Amino acid sequence: MRIAIAREDLEGGERRVALIPDMVSRLTKKGWEICVETGAGTGSFFSDEDYSQAGAQIIGDKGQLWREADLIVKVAPPKDDELEQLHEGAALISFLNPLGQPETAQKLAEGKITTFSMELIPRTSRAQSMDALSSQAGVAGYKAVLIAAATLPKFFPMLTTAAGTIRPAKVFVIGAGVAGLQAIATARRLGAVVEAFDIRPAVKEEVQSLGAKFVEVELEEETTAKGGYAKEISEESKQRTQAVIAQHVASADVVITTAQVPGKKAPLLVTEDMVAAMKPGTVIVDMAAEQGGNCAVSEAGKNIQYQGVTVMGPVNLPSSMPVHASEMYSKNIATLLQYLIQEDGSLNLDFSDDIVDETCVTHGGELRNERVKAALG
Ligand code: NAD
Repeated sequence: MRIAIAREDLEGGERRVALIPDMVSRLTKKGWEICVETGAGTGSFFSDEDYSQAGAQIIGDKGQLWREADLIVKVAPPKDDELEQLHEGAALISFLNPLGQPETAQKLAEGKITTFSMELIPRTSRAQSMDALSSQAGVAGYKAVLIAAATLPKFFPMLTTAAGTIRPAKVFVIGAGVAGLQAIATARRLGAVVEAFDIRPAVKEEVQSLGAKFVEVELEEETTAKGGYAKEISEESKQRTQAVIAQHVASADVVITTAQVPGKKAPLLVTEDMVAAMKPGTVIVDMAAEQGGNCAVSEAGKNIQYQGVTVMGPVNLPSSMPVHASEMYSKNIATLLQYLIQEDGSLNLDFSDDIVDETCVTHGGELRNERVKAALG
């Protein structure tokens, strides 16, 4: 089994790498053959020399790497000119955005490629160390607070100085999943007073354990779906939550929004009126901007000035922290590789195993995932 680490589109903004040299070294010690495209680690500050010392073979010709690989590991979904080079029966492990870009999955199925999508790793305790959505959401939550702090024309912490006492900033986090909890922890470490809201009441204790206040709204419906995710809520519940959100947004210096409902457009929670009611100089970071946005004013990839409020819609925050984002992603990939590759070098394709079944999107010329099939229309 020849495992190949592909170079990401650095110019296109992806700086992470799927396996860092330290992880390569552990895998080559098991006798695995690993090759790496020249410059694959550049964006994360790992040189070809680092990979070479870890036991990987450096391949200068991109086409050769893709043609000769039995299994490619990547961060971002492959481009058409890359996946067309893969030989029949080869395998690919990557974020694939299978619901947003089902055509890529369709092409991989047509090419008889066996594909594992990192977004589809089950969110279970057994698969926790392969859970790249969580590892990368944590990085994003941390960075969202840092960009907010760097943009806010105020301190985050309380300061008692000879020049007077500075009051701490008020941060309001909407959505306390993996990214939101890391945002809360980061804002607290910087000394802000933090409030957080989520429609899933189960997160209350986690929010409080981080030293933040949980904003409660009584809803007369079940808000948690299978796997601990949020459900889409009724119109009445939306109105009830919006009234509460409006009060907390109005008094915040920074609002970080992270709310998502799997498979749906992100819920719109912060309206234009709410933004207009904020104090000038305040900051909103909409982490859901790429999924349609939690804030009516945000646009993916843009920083917008709206009546004195800076509304930021950052994209691919994990790529802006490539060293640790790659280190964590590498751990997720290496754990999955060790789970999938058997003693004889073949892939474990036991579809009675939930990790294999849910993560494998294409195999033997078939598109295996019903939701991806539905997204193709
Ligand atoms: P996510 O990115 O899908 O959503 C982020 C947050 O937005 C969630 O907490 C959700 O409740 C919240 N949200 C959705 N609609 C909202 C609304 N209208 N108003 C306010 N908040 C709203 O979620 P995620 O961070 O990927 O994970 C969510 C949950 O999944 C976790 O808290 C956990 O229960 C479960 N999970 C389990 C594991 C595991 O067991 N290994 C790993 C990761 C996640």
